[in-house]
Amino acid sequence: MDLKELYQEIILEHGKNPKNLGKFENFNKDAKGNNPLCGDKVHIYLKTDENKKISDIKFEGEGCAITMASTSIMTELMKEKSETEVKELIDDFLNMIKENSELKSKNINEDDKIKLMSLSGVKKYPMRVKCATLPWHTLISAMSNKPGEVNTEKEE
Ligand code: ZN
Repeated sequence: MDLKELYQEIILEHGKNPKNLGKFENFNKDAKGNNPLCGDKVHIYLKTDENKKISDIKFEGEGCAITMASTSIMTELMKEKSETEVKELIDDFLNMIKENSELKSKNINEDDKIKLMSLSGVKKYPMRVKCATLPWHTLISAMSNKPGEVNTEKEE
């Protein structure tokens, strides 16, 4: 299996059976994201502990395979990460998707790196980039407790 096939497999698997789908009771941060161009909607729920570490994260939503896979992979990776690590990982991912660069983070293992890289193919398709980055922008919003919905069409 070559890398491209492996990436496709990962996206299909996460798109079909997203991890961390659902909601939990005692979340203390949340945010909604909307990508009207594709019809993707996500609502991310977080619980951060006293050290600002993410102790739990789940999401509700519906959308295309790219959005579902990206949200699934993201929630999987963010569990037990500190605020600093979360921010670093978000920056790293967004740079990788938009600037065609490699992942730089040293806080993730090879398996997780491959999962993130599986989404790198979208950078050739600007519409798909919005699908892949929607949950990540929504997580930024949730972490900073910004009011209102993240909308890919209102991004500057
Ligand atoms: Zn989409």
